[in-house]
Amino acid sequence: MTKNVKMWINSKEVDSSDGKTYEDINPATGEVLAKVPIATVNDVNMAVKAARDAFDKGIWPKFPPAERSKILWRLAELIAAEADRLATLETADQGKTIKLSRDSDFEFGIDNIRFFASICRNLEGKSACEYNGLGTSIIRREPIGVVASITPWNYPWMMAVWKIIPAIAAGNTVVAKPASYTPLSTIEFAKLIERAGVPAGVVNVITGPGKSVGKALTTHKDVDMVVFTGDTITGRRIMEQSSKSVKRVQLELGGKAPFIVFDDADLEAAVKGATAAAFVNGGQDCTAATRLYLHENIYDKFISQFLNEVESIRIGDPTSRSTDLGPLVSKSQLENVEKYVQYGLDEGAKLLAGGRRPKLDKPFNNGYFYMPTIFGEVKEDMKIVKEEIFGPVVTIHSFSEIEEVIEKSNDVIYGLGSSVWTKDINKAFKVANALRFGEVWINDHLPLVSEMPHGGFKQTGFGKDLSAYSFDEYTEIKHIYVDLTGERRKGWHYTIYGDN
Ligand code: NDP
Repeated sequence: MTKNVKMWINSKEVDSSDGKTYEDINPATGEVLAKVPIATVNDVNMAVKAARDAFDKGIWPKFPPAERSKILWRLAELIAAEADRLATLETADQGKTIKLSRDSDFEFGIDNIRFFASICRNLEGKSACEYNGLGTSIIRREPIGVVASITPWNYPWMMAVWKIIPAIAAGNTVVAKPASYTPLSTIEFAKLIERAGVPAGVVNVITGPGKSVGKALTTHKDVDMVVFTGDTITGRRIMEQSSKSVKRVQLELGGKAPFIVFDDADLEAAVKGATAAAFVNGGQDCTAATRLYLHENIYDKFISQFLNEVESIRIGDPTSRSTDLGPLVSKSQLENVEKYVQYGLDEGAKLLAGGRRPKLDKPFNNGYFYMPTIFGEVKEDMKIVKEEIFGPVVTIHSFSEIEEVIEKSNDVIYGLGSSVWTKDINKAFKVANALRFGEVWINDHLPLVSEMPHGGFKQTGFGKDLSAYSFDEYTEIKHIYVDLTGERRKGWHYTIYGDN
């Protein structure tokens, strides 16, 4: 049944002021799931004003950290109690399997909230000191103001957690714009945030196209910071849009992770790791292992085991616990993946598996499913090697020397996730240190923890999600200096007027 959803502004459910909506599709069936408001500029202004007032009137920033922390702990409990309902909603909206949604995204996101609930009581700065011997210097960390959160469709709720929660933990207020394909869990989240005790206006959610609604938000004069996860091209646009009023920007953009396997690695572990890391969330993951670099001595053996393992992946109804791979998020993403597979074929890569849509029974025959796809015999300059495909497509490469694999791995514009598989600790560290990626896993690929930063090098952007580093991004550092001399004419005044 189609649901009419509403935006969440200043603690009220609101339609778009001109009544316009778009259709949100269930990607597993192609059916309309919800009608979603397209915010007008007036609606954007209303949401920013609500966030601005909640900040400027000191409503939220003045809550002591202990109070904010208590509310966030309560929020984590509310989400935990509703996780089944929310994960089901996420799966219907995004297409990811219920296993991934319920057991991974929601479990991890709840832990992320608990982490930020703890760390917000532990603001850090350099110690107070009389650095010049004449006055005391003190560091204060203060919230920045109104934060615009623009999130993608691959992990809709988890990305909302990563952006909204550290922002409000630090005392900021937020206007969130979820991706148009997947707005539902973010709207529900905002309501629960308020139920946990966050005052009205602190978190607002507006919906509609990035190109208009997102642009109005990121160019708004009363927004102080823009945080974004998504495509590198969109990230560049957002930097430009935010530059006019010199907003602080945090960007987590594309990825093209190398997965490097040496000939002394535990081959079975590497094969299983590659299968999970390449096809997680249908490959719609910026850390997904997309380029497998295999030492020439294990190249053939790895491929034959990998093909066997990948064949066991079960595609279909994402709401079933025995499904491993759901649909891609949208028809346009499916067509995008098909376009890249065609590039691969045209450029002479060898298709080893997949390369087509699966045949599924009703109602999934109308969904946006795609088979796990593996290309061998690739060249480093092919589009499928260089560009982010964001689908279940991997390329397989062979190498013989350490220096060679480091160079090839680094030769992309992105720098987010990467992994090295070997039993040789020296080799592992040599490669890990040389990789220009924000995350290097050794003998695993994907694990994230709340305490450690997630973010990229190069054109993956800058700024970190998760960890204390992320929390710090949402604060301004202020230096306060207190004169201790009590002198009217200070010793240094002569440099401006009079004599020494
Ligand atoms: P985008 O990066 O364009 O979308 C991410 C978010 O940005 C969405 O909320 C989108 O809104 C919004 N947005 C788009 N344009 C603007 C703008 N000018 N100003 C402000 N906000 C904007 O991703 P796409 O959905 O277009 O996907 C295209 C490709 O991006 C994928 O094929 C994939 O390669 C990559 N991608 C990477 C992600 C990552 O985590 N690294 C995540 C998602 C996509 P709306 O949804 O309304 O367009």
